[in-house]
Amino acid sequence: MQTTTIKFKKRYKRKCGFCGGSKGLIRSYGMNICRKCFRERAEKIGFVKY
Ligand SMILES: [Zn+2]
Repeated sequence: MQTTTIKFKKRYKRKCGFCGGSKGLIRSYGMNICRKCFRERAEKIGFVKY
């Protein structure tokens, strides 16, 4: 019996969930997304451009 224990320590790394970048992250709306991706997804999510 092999017990493969994968240490899965979830560190709170501020990373964009889409591109993996960490620049200009927006942590609001309960998701980690950078400004670049945010702008790209904004329309899809339903945000209206100002
Ligand atoms: Zn991004």
